[in-house]
Amino acid sequence: MWSLLRKDAMTVWQQVELQDRLVHYREIFQGKRLPRYKLARLFHVNFDESKSIEELMNIHEHYHPKFKEWLKEKQELKIEEVEKEVFSKNKEDEIKENNYLKLKVVLLNKILFACEFCENMCHANRAEGKIGVCGVDGKAYVSSAFIHMGEESPIVPSGTIFFYGCTMHCQFCQNFDISHEFNLDRYKGKDTSAVDLARMYYSLVKQNARNINFVGGDPTPNMHVIVESFLDAQVNVPMLWNSNMYLTETSMKILSDIFDIWLPDMKYSNNDCAAKYSKAPKYWDAIQRNMKMIEERGSGEYVIRHLVMPEHTKCCSIPILDWVNENLKTPLVNIMAQYHPDYKILRGQFPEINRRPKTSEMYEVRKHADDIGLYWKSVS
Ligand code: SF4
Repeated sequence: MWSLLRKDAMTVWQQVELQDRLVHYREIFQGKRLPRYKLARLFHVNFDESKSIEELMNIHEHYHPKFKEWLKEKQELKIEEVEKEVFSKNKEDEIKENNYLKLKVVLLNKILFACEFCENMCHANRAEGKIGVCGVDGKAYVSSAFIHMGEESPIVPSGTIFFYGCTMHCQFCQNFDISHEFNLDRYKGKDTSAVDLARMYYSLVKQNARNINFVGGDPTPNMHVIVESFLDAQVNVPMLWNSNMYLTETSMKILSDIFDIWLPDMKYSNNDCAAKYSKAPKYWDAIQRNMKMIEERGSGEYVIRHLVMPEHTKCCSIPILDWVNENLKTPLVNIMAQYHPDYKILRGQFPEINRRPKTSEMYEVRKHADDIGLYWKSVS
């Protein structure tokens, strides 16, 4: 029984501050609201698949504010009521071919010919089998899918799906076996289709998953298959994007209004540390923009993860907490102490981070969070 294993997953909801920050997420798994993806595929849009990416993005941006408004009106209804209303205006077949979710799928599959899903912008032709900087081709490869009991208390039990490949190259990666050092040839022909993914969601929800949690590596290289799976999915749980958030602005525009909750990593608060330790140029610029986009365009519900690294409290941890506090409307941060040397660090790279964070470093960061009044303890 998961509620015995993680009593805090129940008791955490007694905190009013948490209830206020995660209203949408909570009401979906309580059955009071519809997940966003289900409404996106009932929202009628007109588009011509043969148009260019730029033209289709313009159409997408034309519909985005209208979808947001419509979502507010419909999200607390039963799906049958929304369907009845939608199908009274347009035939079911017409909606199936011309909906907001389908527009996103078409866009993502076009971008895949010169991939720009993440800020690496490596332009690999993944649609024709080329492999990107993230290490994967145009297919999605699932490493494992199971009920995760180790996530933050509001998130468990979480139906977590781990994908191979990653858009950043953290030299201390603790999942390097699925992020970087996998042999893609071994998995050729064993890729996971959009329909397979939709079946996985069903199976995970049958096992009491409170959400579907997309992670890796990083889920970004797989977003075309994940969004396509939403055309078939039937589950009534929140969809959760669990990512390093190193996505391009275009990717964020496409994803931001269909995910219900986000688990964004915020590792560094400057571009230099990110380039040095994670080979992620312009990281801080991208992360600031993307976090604001979750609030401006999406549900605005998230649990930020910040991994405290040795020697990085002054240059990264403290400035991240300050930025979050000053720039986001509903900050909720998991201050993580579990950094340990792994991957390239154990092979001799960057000796300055070849240790766990000291107690004094963790104290410094946590005290700063308290001093500025951040809400963090119940999710850390
Ligand atoms: S997701 Fe992969 S292929 Fe696409 S831009 Fe990023 S690194 Fe390149």
